[in-house]
Amino acid sequence: MTAHPLHHVTAVAGNARRNLDVYTRVLGLRLVKKTVNFDDPSAYHFYYGDEAGAPGSILTFFPWEQAAPGRLGAGETQETLFRVPAGATEWWAQRLEDAGLDVCAPETRFGETILPFRDPDGMRLALVEVAGAGDEPAWAASDIPAEMAIRGMHGVRLLLRAVAPTAAILRDVFGFAETGRDGPVVRMEAVDGPYGSVIELVEAPGSMPARMGRGSVHHIAFRARDDAEQAAMAEALTRDHRMQVTDQRDRNYFRSVYFREPGGVLFEIATDAPGFAVDEPAEALGQALKLPAQYEKHRAEIERILPALG
Ligand code: ZN
Repeated sequence: MTAHPLHHVTAVAGNARRNLDVYTRVLGLRLVKKTVNFDDPSAYHFYYGDEAGAPGSILTFFPWEQAAPGRLGAGETQETLFRVPAGATEWWAQRLEDAGLDVCAPETRFGETILPFRDPDGMRLALVEVAGAGDEPAWAASDIPAEMAIRGMHGVRLLLRAVAPTAAILRDVFGFAETGRDGPVVRMEAVDGPYGSVIELVEAPGSMPARMGRGSVHHIAFRARDDAEQAAMAEALTRDHRMQVTDQRDRNYFRSVYFREPGGVLFEIATDAPGFAVDEPAEALGQALKLPAQYEKHRAEIERILPALG
C-alpha cells in the first residue's frame, strides 16, 4: 500500500513578528511563503520549510495577535517533532535556552533522543536525533552549522481518548503500520522519503477536550501525489470509514480536502503539486507578500492592515 506521510502541520500563533523571528532565526527554517489567511486576509499565513519547501518539511502558522491561549487536550496534536543530526541535542538545548524558550530535559522514546521545548506561544515542539540526517542538505543561507541544522519534520503526537479508530484510518487509508507500543503510546510509520513518517497516538481516555487557540495545532496534512490519489483516498474514507470529506479547495501551493477523524483531530490530504515555486522563483521564496488572485486587487489595503514585521 502507498505510504502517505505528513505534508504539513498548521498551527495558531500570536504575534507575527515574534513567530517569524523564532522559526527563521532561532530554529533556522526557511520562510518559503509569505501570504495571507485565504479566509481572513487581515492575518498572515507563514509557511516554513526546508530550502525547497519540500512536502513533509512544512510547518505553517496563522498569527492572530488577539488569539486566546489554547488548552491542550484530547482531539489535538500534542507535539510536533523535527529531525536533527545525531549528537545535536546538547547544542540545541543551549541555543533554545539562550533564545529564552522553555526547554525540557532530553528524553529517550522508542530508542530516539528527543529534546522537547515550547515556542513563545506555548506550542509544544521537539527535536529528534536521526542517524544519517547530517548527510542530508540543510538550508545553506541559515547561520546554523550544517551539522546541527533541522532537516524537515519527523512526525507528530496526537492526544486521543481512544486510539483504535484513528489507527484504523491511518492504517487503511494512509498506509501507516504500527512499529511500536509503549504504555498508552502507539507508534505508527509510513515511510516515503525522509520526512513526516511518524505518527504517535497517545491514548488518554480521561482527558478534557482540547481548546483551540494560540499555541495549538489547527490541523495536520498528509501527502497525496496527485488529484487522482487524493480522490481515491477520499472515497475510501467515505466508503470504508464513514468520514465526511470536504470538496477539494485550491490552496494555490497544493490542493486539499479535509475531514475530522474519529478522535476529533482535523486531517487534511494535500497534493504534492504544484508546490511553492509556482508563483515566485525558488531562490526568492518567502521574500515578497504573495496574494491569491481574489485578493490582488485589494493589495494596498491588505498591506496596510497586516501587522508590521520589521
Ligand atoms: Zn493545511
